[in-house]
Order: sequence, then structure tokens, then C-alpha cells
Amino acid sequence: MSLSPPLHDSHTHTPLCNHATGHPREYAQAALDAGLAGLCFTDHTPMPAWYDAPWRMRLDQLDEYVDTVREVQAEFAGRLDVRLGLEADFHPGTERYVERILAAHDWDYVIGSVHYLGAWGFDNPEFVAEYGDRDLGGLYRHYAALVEGAARTGLFDAIGHLDLPKKFGHRAPDDSALLRVLDVVAGLGLSLDFNTAGWRKPVAEAYPSPELTRAAASRGIPFVLGSDAHAPGEVGFRLGEALAQLAEAGGRVVTFAGRQARG
Ligand SMILES: [Zn+2]
Ligand SMILES: [Zn+2]
Repeated sequence: MSLSPPLHDSHTHTPLCNHATGHPREYAQAALDAGLAGLCFTDHTPMPAWYDAPWRMRLDQLDEYVDTVREVQAEFAGRLDVRLGLEADFHPGTERYVERILAAHDWDYVIGSVHYLGAWGFDNPEFVAEYGDRDLGGLYRHYAALVEGAARTGLFDAIGHLDLPKKFGHRAPDDSALLRVLDVVAGLGLSLDFNTAGWRKPVAEAYPSPELTRAAASRGIPFVLGSDAHAPGEVGFRLGEALAQLAEAGGRVVTFAGRQARG
């Protein structure tokens, strides 16, 4: 008998984003096989045509995304709690566009993520050389200001992968900028994506770091567990370890349904 609580993987993608593999049905089956109780699809939202177009679904595919998740939801009813979410990007100027996407369907959970500093997709391995031309302190201050902007839009339930610029090993010289973001996130009552994908990347550390996880927990910020799976084999990736790290930090885990946190 397992003593672990029923786990949900609340950050997963589908092939509609053009950089993931496997049918959503296979993600759901993988979640069942991993002993999870729930799975939330949070594929990358459509964005204005000029923004990151190759790496996300088009606007005219949004209904197909919703219909596919609904089908999988029906297929797995009673066996797996399948939910419908999105990972939206925060990029200044696109708020109204994102607002319309969020109004178009009944989402369970919406993550707000920052993947760009200006025109630089800083988490894209293709552009990693750019870090060599950047001052890391300044980079993290710029990034933190954007994440704070994301939090303040009121559009999102949780902030995605809080310390993402560390992905390839470029850690912040200090945590001051992201600690200030945590104050804002706590004040606004938002949650944090506890994202195990970092354990699959060069940094070999989940997002957020153990230090930032403790700082968030001490501010009372809830966490939402996610693998950021872009393939069925990644569903549930190291969620048990994530739970242990959160327990050690005194962090509370929630899931989202109908945009409401559930303990
Ligand atoms: Zn992705
Ligand atoms: Zn992301």
C-alpha cells in the first residue's frame, strides 16, 4: 500500500505546440501507469502571430485542443481526473490577446510564464550563447521585473518555473530579485508551479531552487506540481521527490479546478 497522497501532474503539453510528442490519450495512460490521480494539460497558448509562432498552437487550433482534452477526459472518467489548462506567456503588450484566449473556454488552470527577454528566447538551447554576452545580475533583474508584471496582470493562477534562466546552469548571483517577486506573488495570492523539468536539464535542479522553495513556503505561497512533460514518458517525472522537497520546506501543495485552488 502506498502512503503517498494522490498526486496530480498539472503541467503537461501536447503535440499541438509543435515541440511535444504523443497523443494526449498516451499522456493520460502514462499518468495512470505512474499511479497519479490527476493530470492537467497546460499546452502553450496561441499568441499574436509575431510572437514565438513555431513553438505553439495557432489560434485556429485552440478548439481542437479543447475538444481533444475533453475527449480524453471522457475516456478516462472515473479512473483519472483529467483537467483543461493552459501555459500562457507573459510578454508586455500581449495581455489583451491572452485575456481573450482565457475568456474563450472554461479553463481549470492557467500558468503564466516568461520565456523571452525582449526578442531573446532565453530558454531555447539554440540561443544559449547569448548568456555569454549578458551580465547575470542584470539578466535576473530584468527577468524578475517581467515575472512581477505577469503576476500583476491578474490573468494567471500560478507563475511558471520561477527561476527558469538557470536552465543551462546560469544561476543568479543572488536571489534578491526573485525574493521580491515572491513577496508580490504572496501578496496577490498566486501559486507557484513546482516544475520537475529542471531535473532533466543541465542545471539538474527543479524550479524553483530549494532556497526559493523555502522562501516561498515561508510566505505561505502554495505550490502546484508539474513535470512539464513534452512526451508521455515524462508524465509524473520525479513528482514524489518534488513532494518530499516541498514537505521539507513546509510547502503546501494544491491543484486547480475551475481556476480555484484545491487543497
Ligand atoms: Zn514547451
Ligand atoms: Zn515554460
